[in-house]
Amino acid sequence: MEKGQISVQTENIFPIIKKFLYSDHEIFLRELISNAIDATNKLKTLSTKGDFKGELGDLTIQVLLDPGNKTLTIRDRGIGMTEEEVKKYLNQVAFSSASEFLEKYKEDTSIIGHFGLGFYSAFMVADRVEAISRSYQEKATPVTWSCEGNPEYSLETNEKEDRGTDIVLHINAENEEFLQEGRIEGLLEKYCKFLPIPIQFGTRKETVFEGEGDAQTSKEVEVPNVVNITNPAWKKNPSELKDEDYLQFYQELYPYSTPPLFWIHLNIDYPFNLTGVLYFPRLTQGLELQRNKIQLYSNQVYVTDNVREIVPEFLTMLHGIIDSPDIPLNVSRSYLQNDSSVRRITGFITKKVAEKLNDQFKNSRKDFEEKWNDLGVFVKYGMLSDEKFNEKANSFVLLKSVDKKYFTIDEYKEHVKNTQTDKNGKIVFLYTSSPNDHDSQIKAAQSKGYDVLEFDQIVDNHFMHHLEQQMSEVNFARVDSDTIDQLIQKEEAPESVLSEKEQNTVKELFESLVKGKMGAKVVLKSLAPEDQPVVITRPEFMRRMKEMQALQGMPGNDFLESYNVVINTNHPLIAQKMLKMRKEETRNDLATYLYQLALLHQNMLKGAELTSFIQRSQEMVK
Ligand code: ADP
Repeated sequence: MEKGQISVQTENIFPIIKKFLYSDHEIFLRELISNAIDATNKLKTLSTKGDFKGELGDLTIQVLLDPGNKTLTIRDRGIGMTEEEVKKYLNQVAFSSASEFLEKYKEDTSIIGHFGLGFYSAFMVADRVEAISRSYQEKATPVTWSCEGNPEYSLETNEKEDRGTDIVLHINAENEEFLQEGRIEGLLEKYCKFLPIPIQFGTRKETVFEGEGDAQTSKEVEVPNVVNITNPAWKKNPSELKDEDYLQFYQELYPYSTPPLFWIHLNIDYPFNLTGVLYFPRLTQGLELQRNKIQLYSNQVYVTDNVREIVPEFLTMLHGIIDSPDIPLNVSRSYLQNDSSVRRITGFITKKVAEKLNDQFKNSRKDFEEKWNDLGVFVKYGMLSDEKFNEKANSFVLLKSVDKKYFTIDEYKEHVKNTQTDKNGKIVFLYTSSPNDHDSQIKAAQSKGYDVLEFDQIVDNHFMHHLEQQMSEVNFARVDSDTIDQLIQKEEAPESVLSEKEQNTVKELFESLVKGKMGAKVVLKSLAPEDQPVVITRPEFMRRMKEMQALQGMPGNDFLESYNVVINTNHPLIAQKMLKMRKEETRNDLATYLYQLALLHQNMLKGAELTSFIQRSQEMVK
């Protein structure tokens, strides 16, 4: 037996390894299985090149748990290592790469994936590690390397018959959790689910049926418990896959979840290598998104589900996986953000998503419209947050009218430009933020042949400002912000049928009603006789100011509460009935009633006023 010292250049790294990233001890399994995969793939390559002429045989990697002896073994049938290679790779390469890694990241623990620690990560959980290896080379002598988490190692020959490497971890007292079957099962599920070589963890029982009909019998058999899918959908050629395959893969990723709307298969090998499938999820009730995060892989090895620096923020709402060996993994997050290859990848993903949406829009518009409720949120959010995406999305973002028709921006401009312009010649986009609350105003607009858009999703308020900034020829006006005739210039506004004196009488009457009400202002207007007699409007500008303040968490400014009480001097109830009333009391009564009706429309009739309104209504019925 040979004993030796691992050349220690700096300080002893073992204590650091043991403490390193306490919460991330579990990554040792991924690191060791990755090594086993590499060793297996190397042998496969040698075989295809003709440099290895033996039988490859079954290449399944075995994960063996022995709680009695407190060991966990990772066994591969890959290239193995000769004595020289063990010395070179485990004592030098592995050791120095681990030291280098720790040296670099002692201070910075925000490394995604924490790749790089490699073989030596085994010492985070084991107080003795053995590597029992036999090289694929014909006359190789099998060797056992053993190390107890200090710079001393021993090396001796053994009788291993099969080609490949066993890494045996003698799990230490603090990490006995890794001797539990369930824990290992969970880690294999998390990190190894899509690795390219079969990984077996023990066996499981499966029921098999024999015979048919009444004669059918069933029995339980033990089958190898293979934990991974070696050829996942995203690695396949898109032309090989049907819709069912994508849907099935979605279930493999997120069992029992609602099927997605559609997906994008990313498949690129130049100028960087990136594959993956991104899914557009269906929004569940309201705007609550299912929190299925995008997973990042590197050559089918799971890295993280925190992809914020790689995927543009608005796309983190998507689900699925991205696999790229070109994303630098053992660097800090702040570095990633500024890395030019990462920026290119981000740009590429954005472009692909925009193209896919555009295709869907062009090729199956009806379907696209049906999905718009869910899709719109991504698209609008994307337009707000990403300039490049915005440029592309302008051609397929949809505006939905209250009667459930969909238009692109250009189509909508065309649709309303002849009927809806204001006095400055701008096109007016009428909208409602709540079809329910604005029902009467919407009906009023529609009765005059105008169109009203629905802008009622959370993102819509911002989206509207965004569109307004983008299109100087368009003005947005909420349907209750003024009377329709004021919003949209009518060819000829009707003349008031009242004399100046009569107008003053009406004005004084209503002013006496709103006296003492903060922000209320009486305005007389000569509208069409069929319009409402009294309407409450809330000036767009003031309302928006107030909304902005609320968004910024500022206290409400009473001055901004203002609203107009618009009296239609041409309405028969005002022009004829009210003015003809002799008794001041009955006049007052009618005015109050009309005013309260208008408040009710705006959902502004509250408290004592509401009670008195109800009483009055009941009396009228009597
Ligand atoms: P890395 O895998 O990043 O090179 P590691 O520290 O994980 O670093 O491993 C160091 C080297 O040890 C590997 O490059 C490989 O040559 C060798 N090695 C590790 N595990 C195995 C294995 N299971 N079979 C064959 N060689 C291995």
